[in-house]
Amino acid sequence: MAGVRALQPNCIFCKIASDSSTTTILHSDDKIVAFQDIRPSAFRHYLVIPKAHISTVNDLQKTAEDYSLVNHMLEAGRTLLSRDAPQCQYRFGFHRPPFNSVNHLHLHCFALPYTPRWKYIKYMSLGPLGFIEADKLIEKIKPST
Ligand SMILES: [Zn+2]
Ligand SMILES: [Zn+2]
Repeated sequence: MAGVRALQPNCIFCKIASDSSTTTILHSDDKIVAFQDIRPSAFRHYLVIPKAHISTVNDLQKTAEDYSLVNHMLEAGRTLLSRDAPQCQYRFGFHRPPFNSVNHLHLHCFALPYTPRWKYIKYMSLGPLGFIEADKLIEKIKPST
């Protein structure tokens, strides 16, 4: 497991997580890093990523570790948006493969509206495809006690 999640030298998000890029970091702690999407699709559009290289939502397990990781990502995103866009409506979620742009798990955090407005198409949930809301994912990987 540790091997699979080790830092990948060619992964752009691993570079950001290890602080070897010029990206401005909005939040960072021992588990996660948050920064602005390079091509924002909304009034505010942040990404929250785990420092560990986890490729996609399909690689998340029903473990206490992954469950608390995703909860922590969502909490960090919510804190940043309520600081920077207190009046807005928010949306949080993940792309499912093959619709993910970068193969390193990242939570999209939006303060709406989308800009331009047609951008919402990129973040639609199409049944089992497309975008998955963070709440739904958290429900899915909740460890059964
Ligand atoms: Zn990575
Ligand atoms: Zn994405």
